[in-house]
Order: sequence, then C-alpha cells, then structure tokens
Amino acid sequence: MHRFLCFALCLVLFAACGPKEEGSTVTKNQVYQYATIKSLLEGAYDGDMPIGELTQHGDFGIGTFNALDGEMVVADGIVYQVKTDGFAYQPGPETKTPFAVMTHFSADTTFTINGNMNFEDLLSRLDREIKSQNLFYAIRIDGEFTGLKTRSVPAQTRPYRLLGEVVADQSVFSFDQTAGSMIGFRFPEYTKEINVPGYHLHYLNNDRKKGGHVLALEGIKAQVSIDYLPNLFLALPESGDFHDLDLNNDRTEDLDRVEKLRN
Ligand SMILES: [Zn+2]
Repeated sequence: MHRFLCFALCLVLFAACGPKEEGSTVTKNQVYQYATIKSLLEGAYDGDMPIGELTQHGDFGIGTFNALDGEMVVADGIVYQVKTDGFAYQPGPETKTPFAVMTHFSADTTFTINGNMNFEDLLSRLDREIKSQNLFYAIRIDGEFTGLKTRSVPAQTRPYRLLGEVVADQSVFSFDQTAGSMIGFRFPEYTKEINVPGYHLHYLNNDRKKGGHVLALEGIKAQVSIDYLPNLFLALPESGDFHDLDLNNDRTEDLDRVEKLRN
C-alpha cells in the first residue's frame, strides 16, 4: 500500500517506443518527475515525497530538498545533497523533496568532446546531437572541466519568498580544474510550465564531495552520454502548499534569474 498517492499524468509519445505488454507499467525510457518547476518558482518548497521513494523511480536525477535546502544530484542510485557550503552530503531516505526529476539512465548514444567552450557552447554542441527538439533527454557528462561554476541555495524558513528572490542569496562555487559528472535533463520549450525548458545540469565531482547547479564553464574534456526519453510520468503532491498555489502567473523572468549566472 502506497503512503503516497499521486495524481499521475502519463504523456506517452510513441516515437521511440516498441509495443508494450498489456498491463505493463512504462518505466523504461521514462522521465519520472515530482511536482513542477512552476510550483517551485511560486515558493512551494515543502513536498511530501521521501527520497527513499523517489529512488524507486530512477537511479539518476536532479532536484532540491524540502525548505529548498540545497541542490539534489542522484548519481548511480545515490542521492547527494549539495548544501550552501558547497559540500555534498548523503541525506537519509526519509528526507523529502518538493521537486525532482529522475530516470533509470541507459545511454542511447555516447561521444567525446574536448576543447575550450563555455556553457552555451556546450549546450549548442549537445543540441547538434539531439534528434528532436520535442522529446525528453537525460544527459550525463563524465570528464574533466576547467573554469566550472556551480551554485547552491540556503535552506529557507517560512513564510517562503519566491524562488526568483531566494536565488539572490545563492552561493557560487568556482572550480579551476575538476573531474566529475554533470547530470541532468533537456526538456522541450513547450513544457516550460512543468520543467526547465532546455538543459538543466547539476555537477558532482569524482570523490562525490562537492558539486551544485551548473552555471558556467570554460573548458571540457569528457564523454557525453544521452538517453532518449519519450515518456513522462508526472506525480503531483498529495498534500501541502501545492494545492492552493496560483500556477497561472508568468514567471519567465524569475526562471531566467534562477537558471543562469547573473553578472
Ligand atoms: Zn538546478
């Protein structure tokens, strides 16, 4: 019996799907998402999804934690919490998240990249490998990075401010030279009310001690793995602030402020 009952919206795009057995639940090639980026932008920082349950839906992912206490990176089935001190901790399974995106990662294509490129260059390079703008993709980049900048945000207290305001208090971490993994997703523009449109990548170094939300880059020597994901399973909170949010505000500018490095 599930403690957590979810409203589920399953968008199944058949582009890359073989025939499914009758009665089977789609879990392969699926993005499993809890709550929406819009709910986070509106300040709904407390969810009812324990990470012990979240990891049943994938071994790879990103997100945040209740009270907006740091950046979540899930690598090889282990959940890491990069707090505002820049260090990665391993929270217990009862720790809850208000927003997370997961998959069972299985690379469909891999290639290497090497050279001086900023973050925008990297994303353009990834775009050239993407077969369709309209599907979901999980992206994993393992290698060495120079001039990497990441960030994390401090835990918040009620009454919560909007995410666009909170991000002014973010801590930015600079890595001159680092080896590790970028982990994240690419969502289509048309899903911008649900998730971050375009790329959203988090970082974890090789000793799994540091990381954060990726903001900037200068150079890279790495292997890129891409998992094409034609299915989205969206689970919404059963309780809490989510139910009373006004999700019709335009938060495009806030999202821009949250996702990109401010000069
Ligand atoms: Zn992030």
